[in-house]
Amino acid sequence: MQHPLVVIGAGPIGLAAAAHAVERGLDAVVLEAGPDAGTAVGQWAHVRLFSSWAELVDPAARRLLDAAGTWSAPDERAYPTGGEWRERYLRPLAQVVDDSPHGTVLYDARVTGVGRAGRDLLVDSGRESDAFVVHVQGRGGHRRMLASAVVDASGTWTTPNPLGADGYPAPGEREHAVRITYGIPDLADPAVAARYAGKHVAVAGRGASAQGVLIGLASLARRDSATRVSWLLRRPSVGDAFGGGDNDQLEQRGRLGQDARAAAGGGAVTHVTRFRTEAVVGQPDGRLTLRSVDGAEVTDVDEVIVVTGFRPDASFLSEVRLDLDPALGSVRALADQIHPDHHSCGDVAPHGHRELTQPEPGLFLVGMKSYGRAPSFLAMTGYEQVRSVVAALDGDLESADRVDLVLPETGVCNGAGAFDAPDALAVGGGGCCGATASGPELVTLGRRAGQ
Ligand SMILES: Cc1cc2nc3c(=O)[nH]c(=O)nc-3n(C[C@H](O)[C@H](O)[C@H](O)COP(=O)(O)OP(=O)(O)OC[C@H]3O[C@@H](n4cnc5c(N)ncnc54)[C@H](O)[C@@H]3O)c2cc1C
Repeated sequence: MQHPLVVIGAGPIGLAAAAHAVERGLDAVVLEAGPDAGTAVGQWAHVRLFSSWAELVDPAARRLLDAAGTWSAPDERAYPTGGEWRERYLRPLAQVVDDSPHGTVLYDARVTGVGRAGRDLLVDSGRESDAFVVHVQGRGGHRRMLASAVVDASGTWTTPNPLGADGYPAPGEREHAVRITYGIPDLADPAVAARYAGKHVAVAGRGASAQGVLIGLASLARRDSATRVSWLLRRPSVGDAFGGGDNDQLEQRGRLGQDARAAAGGGAVTHVTRFRTEAVVGQPDGRLTLRSVDGAEVTDVDEVIVVTGFRPDASFLSEVRLDLDPALGSVRALADQIHPDHHSCGDVAPHGHRELTQPEPGLFLVGMKSYGRAPSFLAMTGYEQVRSVVAALDGDLESADRVDLVLPETGVCNGAGAFDAPDALAVGGGGCCGATASGPELVTLGRRAGQ
């Protein structure tokens, strides 16, 4: 390649892409907006993953780390926190990539634009052959970099969904931002817990992250009985939110569901179903009233925690040609298999460069971002994605088209869909998220469909 491969994001998948590249002797530059490897993961450092180390280390990354001789591999059976994932794996990996003669990792380097050098979206000529240009805002100001290929592994963490049920921030949501938190506060941290102790907290969302928040708040309520929680659900019932329990192949996630069920059933938590936030209104006493589209209200809210999922940021991809699913914003070829409304979790076929390729040759969306708004992404899926993509960029189609991945039954994907169709929520009832007792899908060495 005349120019380096540019990888956007030093998260687990971006760094894995870089590891595969340097292992193959391809020059790769990783651009990370944050100050360190795993910046996004670091923001949920206190959350324990539901995957064990065995599922969280990319094979090429492991080979690089082992070869460096300075890495002590974690116990494969243990379940790290986000913080441990970053400290024990992502940071050392970024270091060995950067130490490699083929790898560079740049921090405080935010990608603000990707395009074809000298050509905007409209121009056809040269799109197949000319270099990409990547606009980067960093310590030295704004600069352009040329790239032979671009792998966008920028995740979705920086663009959480709003509280507003229309998909836009509700009127009042921005104005009252001081009482609204997006994501998963570390309730084990006394300083953070103090913000919520003895308060009326509204929690919006029903996925694994929301459940983690409920567990934390229920524990807080045991210590401070004045703490109360309104759990806002768009659906008519809790449904299968707590997932597969003992049947969940991801054991830790099954346990999370069980703990969340206990937390949600405790006296501190009130379920508020069919609640779709239309407005956030300030009360004279400074607290908030949340109003639903049907006029229902939750009053006297001190704090709101919004855990309603994430969406991809395509704003810096406006000058490249994309083929994304119109609902999910995911790579279009994946949408049918990951849509939370109608896919059976666990049947995501392993996929690689052919599914991920975009109309803009040489550009790939990978990792969490490739799933758009779908919540069921697993790191091991991403590792397989970048193994295939980098092999294809290296011209090694034999390896790029080969698949060797065992996917666990994802069991519960906690999607946002079907909130008015209780029947669709029954476990095993055709919609997504019905936990099954079937074993993992074994996919072995073979060619992808259509090969
Ligand atoms: C709370 C939580 C728990 C999870 N638990 C599991 C689990 O147990 N098992 C599992 O397999 N998966 C889990 N996941 C899902 C997934 O594996 C992780 O989200 C993983 O971090 C995704 O990796 P990524 O590299 O695609 O994105 P990210 O980790 O989000 O990394 C993207 C990086 O890109 C950077 N970036 C963003 N925009 C730009 C830009 N414009 N320019 C430059 N850099 C940019 C960000 O700062 C970030 O460092 C979990 C996710 C969450 C949120």
